[in-house]
Amino acid sequence: MTQDALPMEWLAPMRSIAFARIADDGALQWANEGFRRLLPDAVRNASHLHVAPYLLSPRLDALQRLAGTAAAPCYRGLLTIGDPEGQARSLRGHVRFQSDGWLLMAEHDIEDIMRVSDAAMRLSADLAQSQRELIVMNRRLSEREAEIHSLSVTDQLTGVGNRRQLDQCLEAAVMTARTEHIPFSLVMIDIDHFKAVNDVFGHAIGDRLLQHLARTLQEGLRNTDTVCRFGGEEFAIVMPDCDLDAAGACSEAMRTRIAQLPGVEQAPRVTATFGVAQWREGDTADSLLQRADDALYQGKSDGRNRVVCADAPCAPMRPSGAGERSRQAWPASIERRRRGGHWHPASGGAEHSRGGSG
Ligand code: GH3
Ligand code: MG
Ligand code: MG
Repeated sequence: MTQDALPMEWLAPMRSIAFARIADDGALQWANEGFRRLLPDAVRNASHLHVAPYLLSPRLDALQRLAGTAAAPCYRGLLTIGDPEGQARSLRGHVRFQSDGWLLMAEHDIEDIMRVSDAAMRLSADLAQSQRELIVMNRRLSEREAEIHSLSVTDQLTGVGNRRQLDQCLEAAVMTARTEHIPFSLVMIDIDHFKAVNDVFGHAIGDRLLQHLARTLQEGLRNTDTVCRFGGEEFAIVMPDCDLDAAGACSEAMRTRIAQLPGVEQAPRVTATFGVAQWREGDTADSLLQRADDALYQGKSDGRNRVVCADAPCAPMRPSGAGERSRQAWPASIERRRRGGHWHPASGGAEHSRGGSG
C-alpha cells in the first residue's frame, strides 16, 4: 500500500489506521486522523511539526539507521507513538522508506485491545467471584429453606412431627398404597388421664412428660415410621409397609415401654391407649384417621392402657417387609391374642377397668 494507492480523502478521517508521511529530517508532511490522535493535545493539529519526540519506539534515529540497509518496509512490528511525558500507545504496523522520507502505517491499536481484554478478564474474574458467591448464597438459602421446612413440620415442644407433617405423610402413604398395593398402618395414641397430671403436678411437668413420651415412642421404630403430635396429649404414627398385625405388635411393645417408664420428676407413671388401623382399598387419609381414632376411643371405653386394632382389611394385601417387622417387634414375653379387635398382653401392667371418658 502506498500513499498514492489510497485516496487521501479516504485515509484522512480514518481513526483505526494511523497513516503519516514523514520527511527525512522528521518533519511531518501529512498525517491522517488516526496518526494525529496519537499526538499530545497541544501539537495534534499543528501544521508544521517534527515527529521525532513522539516516535518513542522505534525512534527516528533508529529508523534513519535502518533506512539505508533495507528495502521497503524497513521496519515491521510494534510502533509506540505518543507523548514522552504522558500517554503513549503501541500499534502494530510498518514503516516504509521512500526516497525522501518515510511512510508510516499502523493499525490494530493493541493497547485498546489489551485494555478491552484486561477489562474482559477483570469482568470474567468478577463474574467468577460473583458465581462463587452465588453458589455459597444458594447453598445457604437451601440450608435455610430446609431448616424452615423442618421447623414448619416439627412440633416445637416434643421435636416430633406436627399435624402438618402427619397430613403430608399420610397423603404420601395413601398415594403409595394406592399405586403399589403395599399395606401401611396408622397408630393413634392418647395419654391416659393426662389432665390429672397437669392438674396435680403442673403444666411444666406435664410438658416434660410429653417430651419424654415422644422420645419413648420413637425408640424401636424404623426410620421410615413417622411419629407426629396430633395435638394436645395425642400422637400418631404412620408406619409404611406395615400390616395390622405388625402395627399392633409394635404398638403393644410401645404401650408396655410407656407403662414401665419411671415417672418424670415428681409425676407418677402414666399409661397410654393405642388405636391401630390398616389402610384398605378406598380409604382416604381422613377415613383411615377416623378408623384409628374409633379404635382408640374403643380402647378408652374398655379401660385404657391397651392397644385396639380396627377391623383388618377384607382382602389381604401384598405382603412385603411387614412380616419380618412383626417377628422383630413382638417381645418374647407377650402373647398375642385377638379378641374383639383388642390386643392383650399376657402378663403385666394392663389396666382393665372399663368405662372412662375417652
Ligand atoms: P383420657 O384418659 O380420657 O385421655 O383423659 P385425659 O385427661 O388425658 O384427657 P383430656 O382430653 O380430658 O385432657 C387432656 C389434657 O391434656 C388436657 C390438657 O391439660 C392436657 N394438655 C394438652 N396439651 C398440652 C400441652 O401442650 N402441655 C401440657 N402440659 N398439657 C397439655
Ligand atoms: Mg386426648
Ligand atoms: Mg388423654
